[in-house]
Amino acid sequence: MVLSTSDLCLEGRTCLVYLDANASTAPDPEVVSVVAEAMTGLYGNPSSGHHKPGSLAARAVTDAREDVGALVGAYPNEVIFTSGATESNNLALTGIWQARLASEGRFKVVVSATEHPAVLKTAEALATVGAEVVIAPVDQTGRVDLQQLATLVDEQTVMISVMAANNETGTINPIGEIVQLARAVGALVHTDATQIVGRLPFSMDGLDVDLASFSGHKMYGPRGVGALICRRRIALAPLLHGGGHERGRRAGTLNTPGIVGLGVGARLAGMRFHEAAQIELLRDRLHHAVVERVGEVALNGHATDRLPNTLNLRFHEADAEALMAAMPSVACSTGSACHSGAPDPSHVLLAMGISREEAQQSIRFSLSRTTTRDEIDRAVDAIAAAVAYVRRAVAVHG
Ligand code: PMP
Repeated sequence: MVLSTSDLCLEGRTCLVYLDANASTAPDPEVVSVVAEAMTGLYGNPSSGHHKPGSLAARAVTDAREDVGALVGAYPNEVIFTSGATESNNLALTGIWQARLASEGRFKVVVSATEHPAVLKTAEALATVGAEVVIAPVDQTGRVDLQQLATLVDEQTVMISVMAANNETGTINPIGEIVQLARAVGALVHTDATQIVGRLPFSMDGLDVDLASFSGHKMYGPRGVGALICRRRIALAPLLHGGGHERGRRAGTLNTPGIVGLGVGARLAGMRFHEAAQIELLRDRLHHAVVERVGEVALNGHATDRLPNTLNLRFHEADAEALMAAMPSVACSTGSACHSGAPDPSHVLLAMGISREEAQQSIRFSLSRTTTRDEIDRAVDAIAAAVAYVRRAVAVHG
């Protein structure tokens, strides 16, 4: 199936404004071209280094490993390529749990209440095989409550897993302080850094974390590829058994095109951190204009310790699903998970103390590096019209 960009235009005229970068970013054109080249040219198996096609692919993977490591302050041999952040999170939690239960008998896993399901569900799965899973609460801005966390970790704690930045609100967690708490009891720290890597500088060394997960498609790279960074001294049991790929930590023939694309995405991201300020200005333009035009709007998340591209707003007296249906020209999202037709409110917002009703009035707008001022202004018009329409319908029909 071939889609043209006109498929992203409604009724052939109003082009869609894409404000859902936290769900996925459009790959950078440079990424697209290297992935295409790798699919045709780098067909050799990187593990078959004894012939030219294999050694060319191996070389490309080595370069990508260096670029990915450089972006996050890790050595190349600490980079484990995976199929994305879901797999990275599964590998981090399960691999550390298995390795440390065997070596030290620790059995407690502490995760924050606002983690992505890839962490929360993995922790639930570990609970069925003997882990004691403890959920660390967050404050009303969505940051992990450090005082409460301090009372939850102890000498039985295998690891603490707290996301660097939340995908729904953009709230940034105090990872450095969490590492200090963990060190005091000999626990390891994993951070799901999927939303921060490539958007803001993130350094394994700077934060002193032990493991970090991230994904290509949140940083203008390809889908279906990501990485887990695992510091060299740390034992990790593999999830996938097979050949000795990735130093025995993740079996399976390497996805050369995806890895090469991730490497280029990482290199480009490392040169573009200065763009964050401009993205933040546009994000704040959206915020202020919506508040001014619509009224009775509240911010979900931390006012300042927040990703520069993320804006999660709560619209009083307006259901988020109805709002989104009323503004099809704006691609955005709610954090709700849909089970059997009835959307459940976002677990992230509920954990922050927001009521079910307010959570169902909340929408996340997340900007890309390509978002323009004109797009923001068009989105504001669409949002203002949709809120007026939905609130009027509520006033008329109750
Ligand atoms: N963690 C976070 C914070 C995310 O936002 C996402 C993507 N929604 C994931 C993990 C899962 O990433 P992937 O799609 O690469 O499996």
